[in-house]
Amino acid sequence: MPELPEVEVVRLALDARLPGLVLHQVSHDGARLRYPLPDFSSLTGQRVLTVRRRAKYLLTDFSHGQTLLWHLGMTGQFHMLQPATAPARHEHVRLDFEEGLSLRYRDARRFGYAGICQTKRCDEHPWLQSLGPEPLNRDFPLDRWCDQLRRRTSSIKQCLMDNRLIVGVGNIYASESLFRAGIHPRRAAQRIAKKRLYRLHAVICEVLQEAIAAGGSTIQDFSRPDGRPGYFAYRFAVYGRAGQPCYHCRQLIRQCTQAGRSTFYCPRCQH
Ligand SMILES: [Zn+2]
Repeated sequence: MPELPEVEVVRLALDARLPGLVLHQVSHDGARLRYPLPDFSSLTGQRVLTVRRRAKYLLTDFSHGQTLLWHLGMTGQFHMLQPATAPARHEHVRLDFEEGLSLRYRDARRFGYAGICQTKRCDEHPWLQSLGPEPLNRDFPLDRWCDQLRRRTSSIKQCLMDNRLIVGVGNIYASESLFRAGIHPRRAAQRIAKKRLYRLHAVICEVLQEAIAAGGSTIQDFSRPDGRPGYFAYRFAVYGRAGQPCYHCRQLIRQCTQAGRSTFYCPRCQH
């Protein structure tokens, strides 16, 4: 599943090409995605201003004050192609621009979804309104976040994956960040000193930015017909490495299940 870094890499690719282009028409093959697709007619003839991101949503702002919201679900991908390119397998939506760019949406498992809202009222959209702060934003409310965590009896891993407390730290990067911060994933959030929580936030930002940089190195591939996004180019320290030696102490990495999701950690480095 794409996590924040993968979505940010997609955003960077789209934002490098789409602003200034005028949407000509949108067509889809009738396949149902996670929710029914919106009526795109209000967007045609409108110019793209910018492509933003909120948590794992891509937000494309148009010149007339509406925004297209898109979530990639489990397997969603955008490809920027020539209009004449034949549709690929699992290609469900195409957005054709007047300037000759054809943006295709492929989604094998069809858990992705899209919606349209007023740009000014994006924050009030039901998909976005309860989302917590962005870890990478300069104004991340670090003290408030620590205070909230210090009241939680649940494990720090589960708190990191709670979108109301912080967005964009999915399963993979929760494991990676906790390893780098030296915090055991099962430790109750309220039993972690504030100093360590400050360090954890800094580490989350480091890990996410490194992953974005790793994905960003393959960014040109997005515009190729066979383009593959830079998913998982990042080298994981613990994620998916159960039974293999820790890069730091050589102890074997362990795997456990928390809230139905796999967690990976080093029993010696994390406490
Ligand atoms: Zn270790």
